[in-house]
Amino acid sequence: MQYLLFDLDRTLWDFDGNAERTYRSMFERFELQKLCGVGFETFHERYRTINDALWEAYRNGTITKELLAIRRFSFTLEAFGRDPNSIEIIRLSQQMSDYYVQEGTRQTGLMPGARQLLQWLYEQRQLYRLAVITNGFSEAQLPKMHTAGIDKYFDHFFLSENLGFMKPDPQFFDAALSQMNAAPEQCLVIGDDYKVDILGAIKAGIPQVWYNYTSQTLPADAQKPTYTIRHLDELKTILNTNTPKK
Ligand SMILES: [Mg+2]
Repeated sequence: MQYLLFDLDRTLWDFDGNAERTYRSMFERFELQKLCGVGFETFHERYRTINDALWEAYRNGTITKELLAIRRFSFTLEAFGRDPNSIEIIRLSQQMSDYYVQEGTRQTGLMPGARQLLQWLYEQRQLYRLAVITNGFSEAQLPKMHTAGIDKYFDHFFLSENLGFMKPDPQFFDAALSQMNAAPEQCLVIGDDYKVDILGAIKAGIPQVWYNYTSQTLPADAQKPTYTIRHLDELKTILNTNTPKK
């Protein structure tokens, strides 16, 4: 049996496409053009930088999930001249945060080839057991997999919130493997984020597939992933070559 551990956001679920649709509708719904005095593109670009920095802080344990959820909006509003500590901006940020989770989980866009790959794996389910490994929030990750119709393909859902560790901490991977009763060499981690998915798996001794769909280049001294692919379809070749057939 091979255990395939898939990251969710930007590996299977089209995080950026889905998020952009959600932010566009949020921008309209909360009349942010009027409030911030800028168009959607400017607002969204600023939001992305702030959100990335706050996620980094969340992974490092310097802010809580609750603060991250609110501050990504209140800090963006601050960047456009609003007072992030005023009652109305805190309240508005809370409403935006709720809206984001509600609306965001209704989006169904997947990465190119994701659904076909999962279906292909399902047809060979005697060979593979599938797991999701994600740092995302539980109230978002499970509903969005369900809405996109991909939850049925997975035997295990490993969320950092439940395991008590976040990728790239190797303890995240150790905990997941121990729940599946799997050895590292029986597993394959597939993820788009070199620092989070690939380095974490390397530290845990698990072979990895780096889904490098944005064609990033690694520094010369970086540890090489076991495999690198540009399209999810290429995973089939890796599996066909490496899976012992029963
Ligand atoms: Mg990812």
